[in-house]
Order: sequence, then C-alpha cells, then structure tokens
Amino acid sequence: MFSPHRSFIEHTIAHADSELQPTHSTLSVGTEVTILDTGVIRFEPNTACDTSLVISCGIHGNETAPIEIASHIIDQLIAEDQKCAQRVLFIFGNPWAMDAAERFIDINMNRLFCGQWQHEDLSLKEVKRAAKLEAYVANFFAEEPVTVKNRIHYDCHTAIRTSQRERFGVYPFVPGRQLPASQITFLSNANIDAVLLQQKEATTFSSFSSLKQNAQSFTLELGKVCPFGENDLTRYKAIDTALRQFIADEQPESTDVNAVDQFVVCHEIIRTSEQWQFFVADDVSNFTTFKQGELISQDGSDEYRVQEAEEAIVFPNPNVPVGQRAGLMLKRI
Ligand SMILES: [Zn+2]
Repeated sequence: MFSPHRSFIEHTIAHADSELQPTHSTLSVGTEVTILDTGVIRFEPNTACDTSLVISCGIHGNETAPIEIASHIIDQLIAEDQKCAQRVLFIFGNPWAMDAAERFIDINMNRLFCGQWQHEDLSLKEVKRAAKLEAYVANFFAEEPVTVKNRIHYDCHTAIRTSQRERFGVYPFVPGRQLPASQITFLSNANIDAVLLQQKEATTFSSFSSLKQNAQSFTLELGKVCPFGENDLTRYKAIDTALRQFIADEQPESTDVNAVDQFVVCHEIIRTSEQWQFFVADDVSNFTTFKQGELISQDGSDEYRVQEAEEAIVFPNPNVPVGQRAGLMLKRI
C-alpha cells in the first residue's frame, strides 16, 4: 500500500509536503483501509463493532517509539496478521518534525487543539496540520456506525526527561467527568501505573477528543525520546499488546489488575519574574517526590513550599518565558 516506501513512517515523511488524495483498498476479510492524508490511515472492519479507536503519535516528531509501534501494527493489519475487530484511525501527527528528528519545527502542536490553532499564525505548517487533524478525528467519529458505543483516543508520547514512573497517563479535564473503570483497566494492562487527572481545560490533542468529541482519551507518556531505530521496543511490550488486544476485541490473558495511582495538581509553578528562583535540580526526574516544607520556588517574599505530606513534581522546566508554567506539583489521591 505504501509502495515504493517500506513503511507508513517512510510514506508519511516522503509525503510531508504533498496534497495526498485518499486511496482505498479492501483486505481479503473485508476490512476497508483508507489512507486519508499524509500520516492518516483508517481501518474499518466489515463486521459490527462497538468502538472507534484513535491512536495518534508523532505530535512531537522526535518521540519515535510509539510511531514505530503503530507502524508495526499498521503493517500487520494490512498483512492480516493482526485481527481488526474495531474501527481504528492511526495518525502520525507531525511529518516535518519526524523528518527533522525534532519535537516541532515552528510551534508545539500539542498546544494548538480545541480550536487554539485559529489564534495562531495560519501560515505555519503545524497550525494548518492541527486544524486538519481535528477534522479527521471529528469525521472519523461522525461517520461511525450505530453499533459504536465507545469513542477512545490514545495520544502516545515519550518524554525528554527520565521519570520515577516510567509510564503515565494524563486524563483531560471535562466538567463532571470521572475516570471510568474500563480505562483504569486499560492503563493497568498497558503497565501504566500513574495517571494525572487534569483539573482544567487544556488545548492538547487528547483534550480535543475528550472535550469536543465526547471520547475517553489520554495523553500517554510511554518512555524516553530516542531516534528512529534506537528504541528498545521490549520496554513498550505492554502498551503494544494492550493496543493490539483492543483492536482485536480480545480480553487480556492476565486478569491481575495492577494498581494505577491517581494524582491531581495541587500547585502550578509559574515563573513570575526575571528574579524568580527555582530550587529543583535540572536533572530531576518526573514524579520525584518532595516532603512537606521543602522550598520549591521563590520570588522575593513570595515562595512555594510543599504543602502536603508529600508532593511529586512533573514537567519541571525553569527556562520558560516569564508568566509561563515551570512545572506542576501533584498530590496522590
Ligand atoms: Zn510529546
């Protein structure tokens, strides 16, 4: 299907600047396969299914392990070595950044969703791409058959920083919503043992599908940033298997449910001025914990000390512009 390219990764990078017309084929078991655009491919079984599943990766172009995993699943779906029992839309988000082995080219795509792209420079490739990706996801859900009861989106990333929790999920905020047991089971099967429950609306891709498309969605942080071909994919076995079982509509072999710890934000660290000081070491891992009373940041007489018995830090980055977020302090619930 991707000829002369060897994989959907190569096909996506080669067509980064192309206007692709949709191409369509039907597998021997009746599954319909459509390349909708560069880096966007849809599989639809001809049997009744109950779930529309979006698997996205490469929203940050250098986060390659999930792209490699998705590419293998795509290959096996086409070869019919992987059963397709649910509708699946795969998205490789940022082909230009994938090609350049960069997080992004002009602008961080994962801040552009929920219509935020409308307020940015519309001449930028990533801004246009975010608008298109919203439309592909919206259309995918809008076209689902009446048998579909579940809309799911897993937006897969890897982190630059090491983490005390190798894998964690971020669950977008939707007013009045609670994390359902079915999704806790999925996280557990995928060996994701921590989830951050957001408490306000965001402009990430997963927020778009939760807030605007009524989907269950997560941003999944699955490991470390590595160049294509250098990932230790054995570290991604659990998420790979969980996704494949989901697509095949099969139950996991093990019924052991690993605990998934849930966290909420108790403090947002803001770089308030040029004089603002940050007392967290540059190389500290995500989910490193601090004890009550420890000094985290200070700006003149204004300081933040750990309030709870224990708080964990995520996404620390003191090198942001004044007024922006330099990290989050979490408490376990
Ligand atoms: Zn990312």
